[in-house]
Amino acid sequence: MTARILDGKTLALEIRKEIATEVAMLKEQRGILPCLAAILVGDDPASHVYVHNKEIACEKAGIQSRLFRMPATTTTSELLQVLEQLNNDPKIHGILVQLPLPKQIREREVLDAVAPAKDVDAFSPENVGLISQGRPRYLPCTPHGVMQLLGRCQIDTAGKEVVVVGRSDIVGKPLVSMFLQKMGPMGPANANATVTCCHSHSKNLADITRRADILVVAIGKPHFVTVDMVRPGAVVIDVGINRLGDKIVGDVDFEAVAQIASAITPVPGGIGPLTIAMLLRNTLAAASEVHLQATPSR
Ligand code: NAP
Repeated sequence: MTARILDGKTLALEIRKEIATEVAMLKEQRGILPCLAAILVGDDPASHVYVHNKEIACEKAGIQSRLFRMPATTTTSELLQVLEQLNNDPKIHGILVQLPLPKQIREREVLDAVAPAKDVDAFSPENVGLISQGRPRYLPCTPHGVMQLLGRCQIDTAGKEVVVVGRSDIVGKPLVSMFLQKMGPMGPANANATVTCCHSHSKNLADITRRADILVVAIGKPHFVTVDMVRPGAVVIDVGINRLGDKIVGDVDFEAVAQIASAITPVPGGIGPLTIAMLLRNTLAAASEVHLQATPSR
């Protein structure tokens, strides 16, 4: 078998086009210009690239972006002051604090200070709680990208055995929560999975990953998932982004796994582009105040 390649890049462009149309309508009908504020602290080169890519994506969708650069020596209280101004500025709809922050900054305190209504990364306790209860205001961008990719590629998750490897607050944990819901961003077929989450303390990892109909890997280790860890015919979603020499590779041994999987995401060109598209989606939702549908809990 040679796997179907799940082309996140093309899908992301389609979604960004849809968003651009909605942004134009919002301007025309309600006179609202969506605006995303990004705070970038320090000189991390990868962070500069990520923020720049987000600015370009905003511009192409007709969303305004404002970048607040702060020096690497910034203190927690200086950052909190900037956040307070942005929280109170009615022209700013979404706020993004680019991670990682320099070591001296208390990251949790900073993320907690972003007003939940402007928290387009969905990292605040209030937004995480709403997701967990099945009534999201925003969905976190990377996990939402995974769900959109599955839904738009007609890969149903309902009733499937899903294994998520990785339990970070940014990717693994929210994904587990989203797969478990009764209603997904693209309907009930895009949720309702039987979910197992693995991490660095999981024993017999390969035995667990081989059970998966859908295997999602987000651990940050190049080519960690080898062909013997995957059930033939499984769908494999690789969230990892790792630099290996002058190449960017995922957490999955793509070449070998693509020979036995039914579908697989490439790296680059898989989940990465969808992450940015979902950030634009959340910024538009913040500006229009039209949030995801509250879904019934029973
Ligand atoms: P993270 O915060 O470092 O978390 C990594 C997770 O992997 C942890 O839960 C860790 O377990 C688990 N893990 C590490 N080694 C393991 C092993 N040998 N077996 C099983 N589990 C293991 O990473 P992250 O922020 O979630 O990011 C993961 C990857 O996704 C990175 O490559 C990152 O660059 C990429 N990423 C991509 C996007 C995108 O847009 N595509 C967005 C975000 C992240 P413990 O909890 O036990 O330590």
